[in-house]
Amino acid sequence: SPVIWWVRRDLRLSDNPAALAACAGGRPVIPVFIHDDGVARLGAAPKWRLGLGLECFASTLARIGSRLVLRRGDALEVLRALVAQSGAGAVVWTRAYDPDSVARDTRVKTALKQDGIEARSLAGHLLFEPWTVATGQGAFYKVYTPFWKVVRTREVPEPCAAPRALPAPATWPESDMLDSWQMGTAMRKGAEIVATHLRVGEEAAQARLDEFAASAIADYATARDFPACNGTSRLSENLAYGEISPRTCWHAGLRAMHEGKAGAETFLKELAWREFAYHLLWHSPHIATSNWRPEWDAFPWNTDENAPEVIAWRQGRTGMEFVDAAMRELFVTGTMHNRGRMIVASYLTKHLMTHWRIGLDWFADTLIDWDPAANAMGWQWSAGSGPDATPYFRVFNPVTQLARFDPGRRYVDTWIAEGRRRPSRKALSYFEAVPPSWGLSAQDAYPAPVVTAEAGRKRALEAYQARKF
Ligand code: FAD
Repeated sequence: SPVIWWVRRDLRLSDNPAALAACAGGRPVIPVFIHDDGVARLGAAPKWRLGLGLECFASTLARIGSRLVLRRGDALEVLRALVAQSGAGAVVWTRAYDPDSVARDTRVKTALKQDGIEARSLAGHLLFEPWTVATGQGAFYKVYTPFWKVVRTREVPEPCAAPRALPAPATWPESDMLDSWQMGTAMRKGAEIVATHLRVGEEAAQARLDEFAASAIADYATARDFPACNGTSRLSENLAYGEISPRTCWHAGLRAMHEGKAGAETFLKELAWREFAYHLLWHSPHIATSNWRPEWDAFPWNTDENAPEVIAWRQGRTGMEFVDAAMRELFVTGTMHNRGRMIVASYLTKHLMTHWRIGLDWFADTLIDWDPAANAMGWQWSAGSGPDATPYFRVFNPVTQLARFDPGRRYVDTWIAEGRRRPSRKALSYFEAVPPSWGLSAQDAYPAPVVTAEAGRKRALEAYQARKF
């Protein structure tokens, strides 16, 4: 009887234990992707990007004589219907770790087993299963450095090979047409512009990793902090949809380290930050929704997402060049340099004293590399409310950060058009990408700061001190 491979955020054939498990017994394999509530809830950009990933993966499967069956509905109902139609005796999938997926998968596994169907979930999205890393007392890690000390010496198995073929069933179950899902409908007008910055699919991801490991990784430890440099891997987009496996990235980093490339260990450390984010999300799922430290519930956050200063933040019009450049980069490319993410998050939560959830939601709507764990950890870290957070008194100063990390002003000149005699193409493309209702023009005057670096810092510190965090 056939095996159903429930494809989720693992849009790849190489180093995919679930794909290998599906074809291990030589039985026909039916790959299926289910558009369920979890997909419906995705923000505009990640949903659109997922659609592009599915399109690409469907052609990868077609090249080896298989297909991607698309179905919409509750995952358990869809799988039960497919089992009934195809006579499948087993369902396999790659594990997910966010609370909604965990609840769904547990329900699906229990029900399928009760139906007499073999149901197996396998590791593949992470290097280390979150429950396998524990302190001497058996607790989970709340701080990164000791987590890193434990995982850095762990043996990570070599990536496994891609299956050469997935045996096809005698008849293919019906499939929805991807177009009918309209994954891009909520995407704003600028989708064609964002599309020029994407790297979709397994092959493109592997090529980027090879390129990065051959060159930029050597200077990664320093270049990664400068947003004007092409100094990072930019693989988060592919890792988010499983178009490349973390093991493949890890081993490329290890090989580069053994070849003496100086920045390689820092790259491994960043991959471990991704692991740490999942470790936190798995052990304390509320990190994605509420202050990890409950004492922060008393902080006087602004919670009005339509407050003028919040609109200015979203639109890259705060008058703080580093903040605005980064917010525009996000809008045009669907990603943002890590230094930019830290600065815009600090500015929103500290200078504008706005709840981090408002920022988290905007990122979840606009990032093509949106990741439930990294986004939640990043926002709580920046706001000061998370487990391993910046101390409250460390308020990033967007002016001095600019002088330090963009000394030649290449980054802000790339993204800000106003007041420049010859604005860059990217800076101008921002005005083509934004909704007309924002009423922005490259000829506008550059705005004065909504809150200056000094005034915002002072106000935030006073609010923190008043509550003696
Ligand atoms: P590289 O520097 O090449 O790093 C390699 C990989 O390591 C990345 O692809 C990523 O998977 C992982 N990594 C690096 N830094 C971090 C980090 N700080 N936390 C977790 N993993 C990391 N990353 C996302 O993938 N999705 C998000 O939704 C996301 N939201 C964030 C929100 C905030 C407020 C902050 C401060 C950070 C966020 N990050 C997020 C983390 C980080 O900014 C991105 O992973 C990184 O910029 C991606 O670029 P890169 O692939 O070139 O990374």
